[in-house]
Parts: sequence; C-alpha cells; structure tokens
Amino acid sequence: MNLILLGPPGAGKGTQAERMVADLGLIQLSTGDMLRAAVAAGTDVGRQAKVIMDRGDLVPDEIVVGIIADRIEEPDCKNGFILDGFPRNTAQAKALDVMLTEKKLTLDAVLEIRVDDKILISRIEGRARESGGERSDDNAEILKKRLAVYHDQTAPLLPYYEAQNRLKVVDGMLSIDAVSEEIKKALNA
Ligand code: AMP
Repeated sequence: MNLILLGPPGAGKGTQAERMVADLGLIQLSTGDMLRAAVAAGTDVGRQAKVIMDRGDLVPDEIVVGIIADRIEEPDCKNGFILDGFPRNTAQAKALDVMLTEKKLTLDAVLEIRVDDKILISRIEGRARESGGERSDDNAEILKKRLAVYHDQTAPLLPYYEAQNRLKVVDGMLSIDAVSEEIKKALNA
C-alpha cells in the first residue's frame, strides 16, 4: 500500500506515520527528515536547504522530487510507503504522478489530517519549548509562515486528490489513539 499523509505542520503526521509503520509494515518517507539529515551531514543540498527551511519556505521542487524518486527505488519500499511531507505543492504532486506511473506503482490513498490553525499554534509552541531550539524552524513566528505556505501551496492538493477519488479526511483534533483508529477505518473503507 502506498499512501500520502497530508496536513499542516504540527497536525501529527510524523506521529501517525510512525504508528502506521509499526501497524502496517510500511516505510515512512519524510522529506523533512531527509532534508534535516542532509543539513546535519553538511552536504551541498543540506547547505542550500537550511536557510530556506529556517525561514519556513519550501525547498526547490527539483531537490525534493529527486530525493523521493531515488528513495522509492530502494528495495525496502517494495512493501509500500507513506509519504510524509511530500508532495507539498501541485508541481510536486504532478511529478509524483509521473514518477509512480513510470515505476508502475499505485497511490492507494491520500489521508488528510485536518486540524484548526489555533490548535496548531498552541501545539507547535509546546513542541518548540520541548525541543529546546533543536529545530530552528519551530518557533511561533516561523510556524505562522509555515501555516501560510501550507494554506497557499499545499492545501490545493486536497481538491487535486479529491478529484482523483483518493482523498480521505481524518479529524486530527482527536487524541493520538483516536486519530490512529480513524486512519485504520479510513483505509479499510
Ligand atoms: P517537515 O518536517 O515536513 O515539516 O518539513 C520541514 C521543512 O522542510 C519544511 O518547512 C520545508 O522547508 C522543507 N520541506 C520538507 N518537505 C518538503 C517538500 N516536499 N517540498 C519542499 N520543502 C520541503
């Protein structure tokens, strides 16, 4: 099963993806994690991405599309993967469609974890405090930027996948366990 997890920053995509890895035996492919690894490793891509990530913008499409194209070729993706944080805009979604068709892979579902902006801001403020500044993109000001980028660039993917009949909406304001249950129900439906 190949899935996309969509939702604003702080919606709990990473947490739910980890649970789905454990429950469904899928691989989690987080472009955010991969980019942070590149930053930590000090690669050219990492150096280029860091400034962009720190200001809450999206890194160039060709970088993330290239990362995902290489990653889904790996043998551990054969049993299925969860795309967490990719695609982030229509150009990436279209590139993904082409990539999947070329590799003869199907996209089984797109799960939207839906959360109100107000709740997100309080969640992210908590996360920024916990991380003690480890994630320099996690402060409230940058969050507002990231939310604006989500509404402006990523939210148009919702009608895009709705039109493909693949979109399933889950209430992300429930408890973590309840959201996991909703996801299971949505995938079985
Ligand atoms: P995330 O951990 O998914 O919230 O991603 C953290 C940051 O990495 C984002 O704010 C972007 O700067 C960058 N990023 C992650 N995924 C993508 C993507 N698919 N396209 C562009 N930028 C991305």
